[in-house]
Amino acid sequence: MQKQGLLIVVSGPSGAGKGTICKRLLEKNPEIKISVSATTRLPRKGEADGVNYQFLDKRKFQEMLEKEEFLEYAQVYDNYYGTPKEYVFENLEKGYDVLLEIDIAGALQIKEEFSQGVFVFILPPSLEELKSRIISRGTESKEDIEKRFGCALSEIQQVIKYDYAVINDNIERAIEDVEAIIRAERCQVNRV
Ligand code: 5GP
Repeated sequence: MQKQGLLIVVSGPSGAGKGTICKRLLEKNPEIKISVSATTRLPRKGEADGVNYQFLDKRKFQEMLEKEEFLEYAQVYDNYYGTPKEYVFENLEKGYDVLLEIDIAGALQIKEEFSQGVFVFILPPSLEELKSRIISRGTESKEDIEKRFGCALSEIQQVIKYDYAVINDNIERAIEDVEAIIRAERCQVNRV
């Protein structure tokens, strides 16, 4: 029987560095597939449709939701984000590991139905560092920064619901930690 791939779910508060970790992880491990989420948020500078996200209007997102085409979805800040189901299951069945970089509410929805997934939480080294990372990203307004920081504080408490916590105080080591988690999970004897 073909061994199923791993569903690797990475989340963490805004500014913890999960985006950078995931990007570098994929560059180093091109055999891992990334799920491209759908969102109603507008593209930021440098983002491309179908690469960073599938950018949809609210009507199209709603249509996909009604057709049950999402594995999970969540409202994050003022926009909707969802993981298209088909790509994830197709690749897992082919034996590929699939990485999802999604928010905590979405990750916990998946955990309820798909507990064999590998749930990794990225933590910032400190709250001060987290705030300065959100600010230095420079893509958000002052109001958005305060909103994201406030959300981050309550999100961090959800770490106990995850399988693993990786502290991003050093980017290279954080990536190695995630790679080590994936390697160990691939070696589990009772994984189907
Ligand atoms: P951003 O707008 O900064 O790209 O993403 C905002 C938040 O939405 C991040 O925490 C990101 O991980 C999360 N996110 C991205 N795609 C999805 C998705 O498909 N589902 C859920 N639940 N969250 C997502």
